[in-house]
Amino acid sequence: MITSLIRKNLKNFQAYSSARSLYQKGIFLDANENSLGSVISTEYGSGLNRYPDPLSMDLRNAIGKFLEVSEKNIFVGNGSDEIIDLLIRLFVEQDEEIIILEPTYGMYKVVAEIAGVNVKSLLLKPDFQIDVQNLLLQINSKTKIIFICSPNNPTGNLMRSEDIKKICESFKGIVVVDEAYIEFSSKLSLVNKISNIENLVVLRTFSKAWGLAGIRVGYAVAQEKIVEYLNKIKLPYNLNRISSGLAIEALKNYPKMLEFRKIILQEKEKLAKELNNLGFKVFPSEANFLLVSYPNASDIAKKLAVDYGIIIRDFNSKPLLKDCVRISVGTPEQNDLLIKSLTEIL
Ligand code: PMP
Repeated sequence: MITSLIRKNLKNFQAYSSARSLYQKGIFLDANENSLGSVISTEYGSGLNRYPDPLSMDLRNAIGKFLEVSEKNIFVGNGSDEIIDLLIRLFVEQDEEIIILEPTYGMYKVVAEIAGVNVKSLLLKPDFQIDVQNLLLQINSKTKIIFICSPNNPTGNLMRSEDIKKICESFKGIVVVDEAYIEFSSKLSLVNKISNIENLVVLRTFSKAWGLAGIRVGYAVAQEKIVEYLNKIKLPYNLNRISSGLAIEALKNYPKMLEFRKIILQEKEKLAKELNNLGFKVFPSEANFLLVSYPNASDIAKKLAVDYGIIIRDFNSKPLLKDCVRISVGTPEQNDLLIKSLTEIL
Protein backbone atom coordinates (compact mmCIF):
# COMPACT_ATOMS: atom_id res chain seq x y z
CA MET A 1 0.00 0.00 0.00
CA ILE A 2 2.80 2.40 0.95
CA THR A 3 4.50 1.90 -2.42
CA SER A 4 1.36 3.04 -4.20
CA LEU A 5 1.67 6.40 -2.41
CA ILE A 6 5.23 7.12 -3.58
CA ARG A 7 5.61 9.75 -6.32
CA LYS A 8 5.47 8.02 -9.71
CA ASN A 9 8.95 9.02 -10.86
CA LEU A 10 10.53 7.72 -7.63
CA LYS A 11 8.99 4.25 -7.60
CA ASN A 12 11.79 2.73 -9.61
CA PHE A 13 14.33 5.45 -9.04
CA GLN A 14 18.03 4.49 -9.14
CA ALA A 15 19.64 6.07 -6.06
CA TYR A 16 23.15 7.60 -6.22
CA SER A 17 25.61 4.93 -5.30
CA SER A 18 28.11 6.59 -3.00
CA ALA A 19 31.65 5.25 -2.74
CA ARG A 20 31.23 4.30 0.89
CA SER A 21 28.04 2.30 0.42
CA LEU A 22 29.79 -0.60 -1.33
CA TYR A 23 32.70 -1.51 0.97
CA GLN A 24 33.14 -0.68 4.63
CA LYS A 25 36.69 -2.02 5.12
CA GLY A 26 39.89 -1.65 3.11
CA ILE A 27 42.30 0.94 1.76
CA PHE A 28 40.01 3.65 0.52
CA LEU A 29 41.20 5.18 -2.72
CA ASP A 30 37.72 5.47 -4.12
CA ALA A 31 36.24 8.77 -2.93
CA ASN A 32 38.93 11.40 -3.59
CA GLU A 33 39.32 12.12 0.11
CA ASN A 34 42.57 13.28 1.72
CA SER A 35 44.14 10.01 2.86
CA LEU A 36 46.84 11.84 4.87
CA GLY A 37 44.32 13.14 7.40
CA SER A 38 42.49 16.35 8.19
CA VAL A 39 44.04 19.74 8.92
CA ILE A 40 42.45 19.82 12.35
CA SER A 41 41.93 17.12 14.92
CA THR A 42 39.04 17.43 17.32
CA GLU A 43 38.15 15.47 20.39
CA TYR A 44 35.20 13.99 18.49
CA GLY A 45 36.55 12.83 15.31
CA SER A 46 39.13 10.52 14.20
CA GLY A 47 38.41 9.84 10.60
CA LEU A 48 37.07 13.28 9.74
CA ASN A 49 38.98 13.06 6.46
CA ARG A 50 36.60 10.26 5.49
CA TYR A 51 33.01 10.59 4.35
CA PRO A 52 30.53 9.29 6.93
CA ASP A 53 28.45 6.14 6.59
CA PRO A 54 25.66 7.15 4.18
CA LEU A 55 23.14 5.02 6.08
CA SER A 56 24.22 6.23 9.56
CA MET A 57 23.92 2.65 10.83
CA ASP A 58 25.61 3.24 14.21
CA LEU A 59 23.24 6.04 15.10
CA ARG A 60 20.17 4.19 13.80
CA ASN A 61 21.18 1.15 15.85
CA ALA A 62 21.59 3.33 18.94
CA ILE A 63 18.22 5.05 18.48
CA GLY A 64 16.55 1.71 17.72
CA LYS A 65 17.93 0.23 20.92
CA PHE A 66 16.87 3.29 22.90
CA LEU A 67 13.29 3.17 21.57
CA GLU A 68 13.06 -0.62 21.39
CA VAL A 69 12.30 -0.36 17.69
CA SER A 70 14.22 -2.03 14.86
CA GLU A 71 16.86 0.16 13.21
CA LYS A 72 15.11 -0.72 9.95
CA ASN A 73 12.26 1.51 11.13
CA ILE A 74 14.52 4.48 11.88
CA PHE A 75 15.53 7.16 9.40
CA VAL A 76 17.92 9.87 10.56
CA GLY A 77 18.07 13.36 9.14
CA ASN A 78 19.84 16.68 9.38
CA GLY A 79 17.27 17.85 11.90
CA SER A 80 13.65 16.76 11.61
CA ASP A 81 13.23 19.67 9.19
CA GLU A 82 15.16 17.69 6.59
CA ILE A 83 12.79 14.77 7.07
CA ILE A 84 9.70 16.97 6.63
CA ASP A 85 11.19 18.09 3.31
CA LEU A 86 12.05 14.54 2.22
CA LEU A 87 8.60 13.18 3.13
CA ILE A 88 6.91 15.81 0.99
CA ARG A 89 9.26 15.16 -1.91
CA LEU A 90 8.83 11.39 -1.57
CA PHE A 91 5.04 11.32 -1.54
CA VAL A 92 3.46 14.47 -2.96
CA GLU A 93 3.18 15.20 -6.70
CA GLN A 94 2.90 18.79 -7.95
CA ASP A 95 -0.87 18.61 -8.38
CA GLU A 96 -1.38 16.94 -5.00
CA GLU A 97 -1.64 18.39 -1.50
CA ILE A 98 -0.71 18.20 2.13
CA ILE A 99 -3.07 19.15 4.96
CA ILE A 100 -1.86 21.18 7.90
CA LEU A 101 -3.82 22.08 11.04
CA GLU A 102 -3.21 25.68 11.96
CA PRO A 103 -1.90 27.27 14.02
CA THR A 104 1.06 24.92 13.84
CA TYR A 105 4.78 24.65 13.08
CA GLY A 106 5.52 26.83 10.05
CA MET A 107 7.92 24.56 8.20
CA TYR A 108 5.32 22.12 6.82
CA LYS A 109 3.85 24.90 4.71
CA VAL A 110 7.18 26.47 3.75
CA VAL A 111 8.69 23.19 2.65
CA ALA A 112 5.56 22.26 0.68
CA GLU A 113 5.55 25.63 -1.06
CA ILE A 114 9.21 25.25 -2.00
CA ALA A 115 8.41 21.82 -3.42
CA GLY A 116 5.55 23.38 -5.40
CA VAL A 117 2.80 21.23 -3.90
CA ASN A 118 -0.53 22.49 -2.59
CA VAL A 119 -1.17 23.19 1.06
CA LYS A 120 -4.69 22.82 2.45
CA SER A 121 -4.73 24.73 5.67
CA LEU A 122 -7.48 23.78 8.16
CA LEU A 123 -8.06 25.37 11.53
CA LEU A 124 -7.80 23.60 14.84
CA LYS A 125 -10.81 23.98 17.12
CA PRO A 126 -10.78 26.88 19.63
CA ASP A 127 -9.39 24.43 22.24
CA PHE A 128 -6.58 23.65 19.73
CA GLN A 129 -7.76 20.08 19.25
CA ILE A 130 -8.33 18.55 15.81
CA ASP A 131 -11.75 18.94 14.21
CA VAL A 132 -11.65 15.33 13.06
CA GLN A 133 -15.05 15.39 11.36
CA ASN A 134 -14.15 18.39 9.23
CA LEU A 135 -10.66 17.04 8.52
CA LEU A 136 -12.07 13.78 7.19
CA LEU A 137 -14.51 15.74 5.01
CA GLN A 138 -11.66 17.81 3.55
CA ILE A 139 -9.58 14.82 2.46
CA ASN A 140 -9.78 14.09 -1.26
CA SER A 141 -7.96 11.94 -3.80
CA LYS A 142 -5.16 14.56 -4.03
CA THR A 143 -4.41 14.53 -0.30
CA LYS A 144 -1.14 12.71 0.34
CA ILE A 145 0.12 13.78 3.78
CA ILE A 146 -1.58 15.13 6.92
CA PHE A 147 0.83 16.82 9.34
CA ILE A 148 -0.14 16.66 13.01
CA CYS A 149 2.10 18.30 15.57
CA SER A 150 1.76 16.85 19.06
CA PRO A 151 2.55 18.56 21.40
CA ASN A 152 1.67 21.30 18.97
CA ASN A 153 3.96 24.23 18.36
CA PRO A 154 2.98 27.00 19.19
CA THR A 155 -0.15 26.06 21.16
CA GLY A 156 1.58 23.57 23.48
CA ASN A 157 -1.20 20.96 23.70
CA LEU A 158 -1.06 17.28 22.89
CA MET A 159 -3.50 16.04 20.27
CA ARG A 160 -5.85 13.27 21.41
CA SER A 161 -4.41 9.87 20.54
CA GLU A 162 -7.92 8.55 19.70
CA ASP A 163 -8.22 11.33 17.12
CA ILE A 164 -4.84 10.49 15.59
CA LYS A 165 -5.79 6.81 15.47
CA LYS A 166 -9.10 7.58 13.80
CA ILE A 167 -7.39 9.80 11.20
CA CYS A 168 -4.81 7.09 10.44
CA GLU A 169 -7.62 4.55 10.00
CA SER A 170 -9.82 6.73 7.82
CA PHE A 171 -7.14 8.29 5.63
CA LYS A 172 -5.32 6.26 3.01
CA GLY A 173 -2.34 8.59 2.76
CA ILE A 174 0.51 9.31 5.19
CA VAL A 175 -0.07 10.75 8.67
CA VAL A 176 3.02 12.48 10.05
CA VAL A 177 2.96 13.06 13.79
CA ASP A 178 5.66 15.52 14.74
CA GLU A 179 6.72 14.79 18.32
CA ALA A 180 9.55 17.32 18.60
CA TYR A 181 8.40 18.18 22.15
CA ILE A 182 7.14 14.77 23.31
CA GLU A 183 9.85 14.34 25.96
CA PHE A 184 8.27 17.19 27.94
CA SER A 185 4.77 15.79 27.79
CA SER A 186 2.81 13.66 30.23
CA LYS A 187 1.92 11.08 27.56
CA LEU A 188 3.97 8.46 25.77
CA SER A 189 5.30 8.79 22.24
CA LEU A 190 3.51 7.01 19.41
CA VAL A 191 6.76 5.43 18.14
CA ASN A 192 5.70 1.99 19.28
CA LYS A 193 2.45 2.21 17.32
CA ILE A 194 4.11 2.14 13.91
CA SER A 195 4.06 -1.65 13.79
CA ASN A 196 0.24 -1.59 13.89
CA ILE A 197 -0.41 1.57 11.89
CA GLU A 198 1.08 1.33 8.43
CA ASN A 199 0.63 4.96 7.36
CA LEU A 200 1.97 6.56 10.55
CA VAL A 201 5.32 8.38 10.52
CA VAL A 202 6.56 9.77 13.84
CA LEU A 203 9.15 12.57 13.88
CA ARG A 204 11.48 13.12 16.83
CA THR A 205 14.51 15.33 17.42
CA PHE A 206 17.61 15.87 19.51
CA SER A 207 17.05 19.66 19.29
CA LYS A 208 14.74 20.15 22.27
CA ALA A 209 14.87 18.03 25.44
CA TRP A 210 18.31 16.64 24.58
CA GLY A 211 19.71 20.15 24.26
CA LEU A 212 21.40 19.56 20.92
CA ALA A 213 19.78 21.95 18.47
CA GLY A 214 23.25 22.86 17.25
CA ILE A 215 24.16 19.43 15.90
CA ARG A 216 21.07 19.05 13.66
CA VAL A 217 19.91 15.50 14.25
CA GLY A 218 16.31 14.40 13.95
CA TYR A 219 14.74 11.06 13.13
CA ALA A 220 11.63 9.44 11.79
CA VAL A 221 10.13 6.18 13.01
CA ALA A 222 8.17 4.54 10.22
CA GLN A 223 7.51 1.43 8.16
CA GLU A 224 10.65 -0.19 6.79
CA LYS A 225 9.53 0.55 3.23
CA ILE A 226 9.27 4.28 3.97
CA VAL A 227 12.70 4.28 5.61
CA GLU A 228 14.15 2.51 2.56
CA TYR A 229 12.70 5.11 0.20
CA LEU A 230 13.84 8.02 2.36
CA ASN A 231 17.34 6.56 2.34
CA LYS A 232 17.19 6.37 -1.45
CA ILE A 233 16.20 9.98 -2.03
CA LYS A 234 18.24 11.80 0.64
CA LEU A 235 21.61 13.32 -0.22
CA PRO A 236 24.27 10.65 0.33
CA TYR A 237 25.97 12.07 3.44
CA ASN A 238 23.16 13.99 5.11
CA LEU A 239 24.50 13.37 8.61
CA ASN A 240 28.09 14.29 9.39
CA ARG A 241 30.39 12.18 11.56
CA ILE A 242 30.53 14.67 14.42
CA SER A 243 26.77 15.01 14.73
CA SER A 244 26.02 11.31 14.59
CA GLY A 245 28.82 10.61 17.08
CA LEU A 246 27.43 13.21 19.48
CA ALA A 247 23.85 11.95 19.13
CA ILE A 248 25.04 8.44 20.07
CA GLU A 249 26.84 9.96 23.10
CA ALA A 250 23.66 11.86 24.01
CA LEU A 251 21.62 8.67 24.25
CA LYS A 252 24.11 7.38 26.84
CA ASN A 253 23.32 10.49 28.90
CA TYR A 254 19.59 9.81 29.25
CA PRO A 255 19.60 10.64 33.01
CA LYS A 256 20.97 14.10 32.19
CA MET A 257 18.08 14.65 29.78
CA LEU A 258 15.63 13.65 32.50
CA GLU A 259 17.31 16.09 34.87
CA PHE A 260 16.89 18.92 32.34
CA ARG A 261 13.31 17.85 31.76
CA LYS A 262 12.54 18.01 35.47
CA ILE A 263 14.00 21.50 35.87
CA ILE A 264 12.29 22.79 32.72
CA LEU A 265 8.91 21.43 33.83
CA GLN A 266 9.33 22.94 37.32
CA GLU A 267 10.32 26.28 35.83
CA LYS A 268 7.43 26.12 33.39
CA GLU A 269 4.97 25.67 36.24
CA LYS A 270 6.52 28.54 38.18
CA LEU A 271 6.50 30.78 35.11
CA ALA A 272 2.88 29.91 34.35
CA LYS A 273 1.82 30.92 37.86
CA GLU A 274 3.74 34.17 37.75
CA LEU A 275 2.45 35.09 34.29
CA ASN A 276 -1.05 34.29 35.45
CA ASN A 277 -0.58 36.59 38.46
CA LEU A 278 0.48 39.34 36.06
CA GLY A 279 -2.84 38.94 34.23
CA PHE A 280 -1.73 36.82 31.28
CA LYS A 281 -3.97 34.04 30.06
CA VAL A 282 -1.73 30.98 30.11
CA PHE A 283 -2.68 28.06 27.87
CA PRO A 284 -1.96 24.54 29.17
CA SER A 285 1.37 23.32 27.83
CA GLU A 286 2.85 19.85 27.37
CA ALA A 287 6.05 21.31 25.90
CA ASN A 288 8.98 23.50 26.97
CA PHE A 289 7.22 26.73 26.15
CA LEU A 290 4.09 28.61 27.13
CA LEU A 291 1.55 30.21 24.85
CA VAL A 292 0.11 33.21 26.65
CA SER A 293 -2.20 36.05 25.72
CA TYR A 294 -2.58 39.63 26.92
CA PRO A 295 -4.16 42.69 25.31
CA ASN A 296 -1.65 44.11 22.81
CA ALA A 297 0.88 41.38 23.57
CA SER A 298 2.76 42.34 20.38
CA ASP A 299 3.68 45.69 21.92
CA ILE A 300 4.86 43.96 25.07
CA ALA A 301 7.02 41.58 23.00
CA LYS A 302 8.56 44.55 21.17
CA LYS A 303 9.29 46.41 24.42
CA LEU A 304 10.81 43.29 25.94
CA ALA A 305 13.17 42.94 22.99
CA VAL A 306 14.12 46.60 22.57
CA ASP A 307 14.30 47.74 26.19
CA TYR A 308 15.27 44.53 27.97
CA GLY A 309 16.96 42.39 25.34
CA ILE A 310 14.56 39.50 26.00
CA ILE A 311 13.22 37.89 22.85
CA ILE A 312 9.91 36.05 22.79
CA ARG A 313 7.85 35.07 19.74
CA ASP A 314 4.84 37.05 18.63
CA PHE A 315 1.97 35.04 17.11
CA ASN A 316 -0.63 37.80 17.05
CA SER A 317 -1.12 37.62 13.29
CA LYS A 318 -1.75 33.84 13.22
CA PRO A 319 -5.24 32.33 13.14
CA LEU A 320 -6.79 31.76 16.60
CA LEU A 321 -3.80 33.49 18.21
CA LYS A 322 -4.81 37.13 18.52
CA ASP A 323 -2.71 38.79 21.23
CA CYS A 324 -0.74 35.58 21.80
CA VAL A 325 3.00 35.25 22.31
CA ARG A 326 5.08 32.13 22.86
CA ILE A 327 7.68 32.07 25.59
CA SER A 328 10.35 29.36 25.75
CA VAL A 329 11.19 28.30 29.30
CA GLY A 330 14.66 29.60 30.11
CA THR A 331 17.08 29.14 32.99
CA PRO A 332 15.72 30.04 36.45
CA GLU A 333 17.64 33.36 36.25
CA GLN A 334 16.32 34.16 32.77
CA ASN A 335 12.76 33.37 33.83
CA ASP A 336 13.07 35.61 36.90
CA LEU A 337 14.41 38.41 34.72
CA LEU A 338 11.55 37.93 32.28
CA ILE A 339 8.97 38.26 35.07
CA LYS A 340 10.76 41.28 36.56
CA SER A 341 10.86 42.97 33.13
CA LEU A 342 7.20 42.19 32.39
CA THR A 343 6.20 43.58 35.79
CA GLU A 344 7.98 46.82 34.93
CA ILE A 345 6.43 47.03 31.47
CA LEU A 346 2.91 46.40 32.72
N1 PMP B 1 9.03 20.21 14.59
C1 PMP B 1 8.63 21.15 15.45
C2 PMP B 1 7.23 21.10 15.95
C3 PMP B 1 9.49 22.16 15.85
O1 PMP B 1 9.06 23.10 16.69
C4 PMP B 1 10.81 22.17 15.34
C5 PMP B 1 11.81 23.22 15.72
N2 PMP B 1 11.38 24.43 16.04
C6 PMP B 1 11.17 21.17 14.45
C7 PMP B 1 10.27 20.20 14.11
C8 PMP B 1 12.52 21.15 13.82
O2 PMP B 1 13.39 20.45 14.59
P1 PMP B 1 14.84 20.08 14.12
O3 PMP B 1 15.74 20.96 14.91
O4 PMP B 1 14.97 18.64 14.48
O5 PMP B 1 14.94 20.32 12.64
